[in-house]
Amino acid sequence: MKIYYDQDADLSYLENQTICILGYGSQGHAHALNLRDSGLKVIVGLRKGGPSYEKAKADGFEPLDPAEACAQADVIMMLVPDQIQPEIYEKAVKPNLSSGKMLMFAHGFNIHFGQIIPPVDVDVTMVAPKGPGHLVRREYEKGAGVPCLIAVEQDATGKAFKRALAYAKGIGGTRAGVLETTFREETETDLFGEQCVLCGGVTALIKAGFETLVEAGYQPEIAYFECCHELKLIVDLIYEGGLSYMRYSISDTAEYGDLTRGPRIVTEDVKKEMKRVLEEIQSGRFAREWILENKANRPVLNALRRREAEHQIEEVGAKLRAMMPWLKK
Ligand code: NAD
Ligand code: MG
Ligand code: MG
Ligand code: MG
Ligand code: MG
Ligand code: MG
Repeated sequence: MKIYYDQDADLSYLENQTICILGYGSQGHAHALNLRDSGLKVIVGLRKGGPSYEKAKADGFEPLDPAEACAQADVIMMLVPDQIQPEIYEKAVKPNLSSGKMLMFAHGFNIHFGQIIPPVDVDVTMVAPKGPGHLVRREYEKGAGVPCLIAVEQDATGKAFKRALAYAKGIGGTRAGVLETTFREETETDLFGEQCVLCGGVTALIKAGFETLVEAGYQPEIAYFECCHELKLIVDLIYEGGLSYMRYSISDTAEYGDLTRGPRIVTEDVKKEMKRVLEEIQSGRFAREWILENKANRPVLNALRRREAEHQIEEVGAKLRAMMPWLKK
């Protein structure tokens, strides 16, 4: 894998260009502030009265109507929520996407699954930080950066990669390292990771462990601490030093139980199901389901959210977290 650093990137590919950041949420605020601090010309496109309008003003931007901002820009970065991007694209971006501009994303879903189809005479690229926006901003202010992925879907100007790499440098990404990927790889692995491991896998594992202890007659509060609360300690160790560092840090008893029992929980059957989930992602079936779910006003998501909120682990957890005021943001 090729990794790009500061010396590989040249900000001059974006000098004398206007960069429009659409959206001022987690990623939007961090990109806008970092690019501006890197000496580039940044404008912010936002709805008047939207939730982050005042925040952008407080940070010294004069937010423009999204269509007006796109008209003025040479580079347009889409940092509104993914399910809203197609609508903003049609209304504000497309009418102002003249030849030679660059349309950018921080996630590949809408391009890869054809929800946004840009004209052939613009560059289409991705710079996706591997961390939330507040970390992208905080690390930049420290003089460091968060690693990013970079991808080119369409190179109309012959400079798409250099322009995107300059953008990555502007937000601090090349200080840490920028890894090359494709829209397809980023989109499919992102969906797989959140469905099978990070979000879907972990929450299902927590609930199954909690339910097993409670059904066996143990107190739900104790089950919550063991199967949910303590997860953070383990994840922090893995985050810092990988699986081996976590195992070094836990007791030998815990490590022996981990190595001998873990594979009995996540079995070959689980992996077979992961492959089926991956196939649904690759074939576009998951994307179609999620797009139609949004068109129908999210009946399944709403029902599942309601059902999950009523699970015993949520009641017990709320009670216990109230005993730990330091957890509150
Ligand atoms: P967010 O929800 O934090 O912010 C969205 C912004 O869009 C807000 O400023 C909101 O006011 C604005 N917005 C919402 N609806 C709008 C509308 N109808 N018109 C105009 N503006 C509107 O979003 P985010 O998490 O920063 O995600 C932005 C992109 O970055 C997505 O493509 C996401 O996949 C990607 N991404 C996010 C993260 C992350 O950690 N949050 C990491 C990598 C990539
Ligand atoms: Mg992801
Ligand atoms: Mg995702
Ligand atoms: Mg324990
Ligand atoms: Mg040990
Ligand atoms: Mg123990």
